[in-house]
Amino acid sequence: MDNELNKLFNKKEIGWNKIDDNEKNAIFSFCDGYMKFLNTSKTEREAVCTARKIAEENGFRDIATFDSLKPGDKVFFVNREKSMYLAVIGTEKLENGIQIVGAHIDSPRLDLKPNPLYEDSGFAYFKTHYYGGIKKYQWTTIPLSLHGVIVKANGEKITINIGEAPDDPIFTISDLLPHLAQDQMEKKLKNGIDGEDLALLLGSIPYDDEKTSEKIKLNILNILNQKYDITETDLLSSEIEVVPEFKARSLGFDSSMIAGYGQDDRACAYTSLSAMMSLQNVKTTAVCILSDKEEIGSMGNTGMESHMFDFFISELLNKTGENRPNLLDKVFCFSKMLSADVDAGFDPLYASVSDKTNAAFLGHGIGLNKYTGARGKSGASDANAEYVAWVRNVFEKNNIRYQVSELGKVDVGGGGTIAYILANKGVDVIDCGVPVLSMHAPYEVTSKYDVYSAFKAYKAFWEE
Ligand code: MN
Ligand code: MN
Repeated sequence: MDNELNKLFNKKEIGWNKIDDNEKNAIFSFCDGYMKFLNTSKTEREAVCTARKIAEENGFRDIATFDSLKPGDKVFFVNREKSMYLAVIGTEKLENGIQIVGAHIDSPRLDLKPNPLYEDSGFAYFKTHYYGGIKKYQWTTIPLSLHGVIVKANGEKITINIGEAPDDPIFTISDLLPHLAQDQMEKKLKNGIDGEDLALLLGSIPYDDEKTSEKIKLNILNILNQKYDITETDLLSSEIEVVPEFKARSLGFDSSMIAGYGQDDRACAYTSLSAMMSLQNVKTTAVCILSDKEEIGSMGNTGMESHMFDFFISELLNKTGENRPNLLDKVFCFSKMLSADVDAGFDPLYASVSDKTNAAFLGHGIGLNKYTGARGKSGASDANAEYVAWVRNVFEKNNIRYQVSELGKVDVGGGGTIAYILANKGVDVIDCGVPVLSMHAPYEVTSKYDVYSAFKAYKAFWEE
């Protein structure tokens, strides 16, 4: 075919095909930083802590320390240690619109129940309640670690992180041996492991005390008391999350991919945060969202459905001296957003759930989802063609490889992101993130090419 006609196709090529050694080195070294972030930021609280440190190292300051804001100022706002907003003030007035990249930093996991500790037949356990959409069988027989906080009634806060350091013990959830699993193996996969059976194995040595019947439990309480100076009652006011102990690693002989926990959505959180750190002088004010609670519907005062984000933007309006009644509504109606959330990558082992013509492929660059939803786009925020064209143009002129896709075949399933929340305020929004294999599993897979593409895409969007 001659070249002129060939141009008529939307060519879908592997990104690795056309890169030189410099670009390849840039991709690999960027992803080394990303893997470090994954390993130190396995929960929303830890992600906020790491992000805050990175922001401060790059000249960002808490918005509360500013009396007024001017173009070039770099600010952040931390909401209850679980979500965070950052901004670089542009030269244009905020009322003409802002440019938002929004990711989330919570991931599927197991949370401890309020009364977690019990003893049964010589073992001590923590009861858990799973958080987000998990396949329960994937969480048994893997090494798990504990992360979170215990807050005493006097306000003293104890940070917990056990199972990550090489010398730490880990925890696990047992499963039935195949020899005795005849009945279990006949069950539907979703019923194979009961939610109540996701109990974390904690210990087996009894405390030497004749008077109590719960000697193993007492021994654990004694260990916790010596280590953290807490009692069983203090666990009532704790938030302890059970996450995979696995470290993020390069995957494959060619090291082209990354295996790691929590890449939904830290792949987009880290890349957007890094892109924000690289900004110098922007015309339009750039805002980065690191949100909590996306995996359970974005509710609550650290989720995107809350008014905390409105409060942050109002503070920007107040401190730039622009504010006047109802101006916030105008800001949103003139704003643009990339909803930075991961996309389902096409998996050849499970090809039947995808429409190959409309699937996102690992290694083909950042994925755009014009809409999400399920059963006839229900619940979707469907980006306007005009806005898709604007975003495409930004990526094309900056040589950023992108693909436009759907989550899966029609009526096979569906999903959602925070896109609709901002779209409902009047913002132009499109989902834009990294394709993932094994999404929501304890060990998720991404392509280094796509992670770096996300960084370049968010940077270009903010610099436009
Ligand atoms: Mn997500
Ligand atoms: Mn998710």
